[in-house]
Order: sequence, then structure tokens, then C-alpha cells
Amino acid sequence: MIQPTIAKREVTKYILKTFDIHMSKKLGQNFLIDEAIVQEIVHASDIQEGETVLEVGPGIGTLTQGLAEAKANVIAVEIDNRLPEVLAKTLEGYENVRIVHGDILKVNIPELVEGKNFKVVANLPYYITTPIIMALLEQKLPVTKIVTMIQKEVADRMVAKPGKKDYGALSVAVQYYTTPEIVAQVPPKSFIPAPAVDSVVIRCDVRPEPAVKVISEKMFFRVVKAAFSQRRKTLSNSLKTMGIAAEEIKKAIDDAAIDGTRRGETLTLQEFAVIADNLEENKIVE
Ligand code: SAM
Repeated sequence: MIQPTIAKREVTKYILKTFDIHMSKKLGQNFLIDEAIVQEIVHASDIQEGETVLEVGPGIGTLTQGLAEAKANVIAVEIDNRLPEVLAKTLEGYENVRIVHGDILKVNIPELVEGKNFKVVANLPYYITTPIIMALLEQKLPVTKIVTMIQKEVADRMVAKPGKKDYGALSVAVQYYTTPEIVAQVPPKSFIPAPAVDSVVIRCDVRPEPAVKVISEKMFFRVVKAAFSQRRKTLSNSLKTMGIAAEEIKKAIDDAAIDGTRRGETLTLQEFAVIADNLEENKIVE
């Protein structure tokens, strides 16, 4: 059992006061003050001693401490230049933590993790949740698991199944690369300051191979994007935004034995894959 000590309201307030830190809304700073949630995130991450964990935005070290106590080799990337000084103090004595000052969307992750397999564990800044998760997945890094605290509404979209109102391009992309599961609900009172939205912890186990095999990922995501671009239109009409001749779109849909009057949001990943492969195979793209 880990013993988080920073994840408390009084301790967090004391640290902020001592270092005269005024939290930045712009950087999505909502610090965790709930020990039970730190425990849950660490537990969901299933950390093995010595394995590499990349933390995005350690803040004042709340979750970092939990990860360090679980004996991970933690690399924590923080954009706020006021915080490395604080972290040096709050995480003093943890030899297994390395703080990197930088923007997670700009740092060289393969270099940071030295080419090793790694997990991402984070209480993400909500203003860039989706870009961070998509960047981690699309770069095809050796990441095995992504356990993050995010806005509930975004997580609902990530786990949504075909035909549900939350199902969209984000659901397809996340489910293409991972098996996502919401593992904890977190109320606003678990943070300072309390965010205006509900949060959840979502665990995304990265698949060894994507959920469906496609000839061209580029074409697959092009089809997905077009299918969701105009949600009230039929699949046939939505795909016309791809800039491909209508009869060619029709052929790809017909050859997939899919009804073109369906809406894009009812299609499974497999169905998107077949249409994308038909378009790619027929070399009917400009
Ligand atoms: N991990 C801490 C916790 O749980 O209390 C802080 C979480 S807070 C929601 C998000 C953190 O991400 C903040 O410390 C913020 O400064 C940092 N951050 C924001 N944008 C970032 C970026 N692009 N790269 C790295 N860190 C970022």
C-alpha cells in the first residue's frame, strides 16, 4: 500500500503558499487532493518495480509521489517553469523520479524513455486531453497502457459504441489503438480548485495490433472523419466530402455490403475498415 502525503487539502495548500504558487487556469492546473484517487490511479496502472512511467504534468508531485512509492521509474514532464523548484523539494529523496521541464507535445518521448516500453499515467490538463492522447497513440511509441484522469464527457466519447450519441471519430481512433475502460468516477471536490466538470479515470490498454487490419491507416481515418463530419446525413452523402466521385463511393459501400442510407455513426470499426480498403484497393483515389 502506498502512502501518499501530498494528496491532502492542507498539505497542498501549505505547499502552494510556501512557494507562492498561484495556480494557472490556462495550464489546466487542478491539483488532486484525494489520496484514495491517487491509490486508484496507481492501482489501475498495475506498476511493476522499475518499469518506466511517463507522467504528464506532475504539478506539485501529488500523483508522482504515488508512482514513485510504487517503485516505477518515473519521468515527469511539466510545462510550468515555476514547478521544477517545488518538485525538487516535495519529491526530495525519491531517486526514481526525473523531472523534465517541457511541453509534452514537443518533447522527444522516445529519447526520454530511452526506447523502452513505458506506461503513461497522468492527471491531464483538460484543455489538451485529446491532442495529448492522440499524439501518444499516433506516434506509435512503445506505450503499453495509458491511465489518465480526464473530463467525464471526453471519456464517454472514447468508450462509446456504434449507434450511441457519444460515438464519433474520437471513439473510433481510441478503440482502434486501445481497449478503453472507465475505472473510477472522480467528483470536483477531489481537486483544488474544483473544476466545473466531473472527471473520471480511464485506462486504455494499448492493443498489440490495431483492432482492425487496414491497407492504409490514412484512408481509414479519412473515411472515419468524413463519416462523422455531417452526423445527420447518410453514409453515402457524408463520404462525398472526401472529394471522391459519388459512383466510386457507392461502389466501395456496396462492395462492403453496407446500406448507404445508414448514418456514419452506426458503423463499426470493421465496417469502416472494409469501406476504406475498398477505396484504397480500387485505386480510385486522386
Ligand atoms: N499531476 C498533478 C495532480 O494530479 O495534482 C497536476 C495535474 S494538473 C490537472 C495538470 C498539470 O499539467 C499542471 O501541472 C500543468 O502545469 C501541466 N501541463 C499543462 N500543459 C502541459 C503540457 N503541454 N506539457 C506538460 N505539462 C503540462
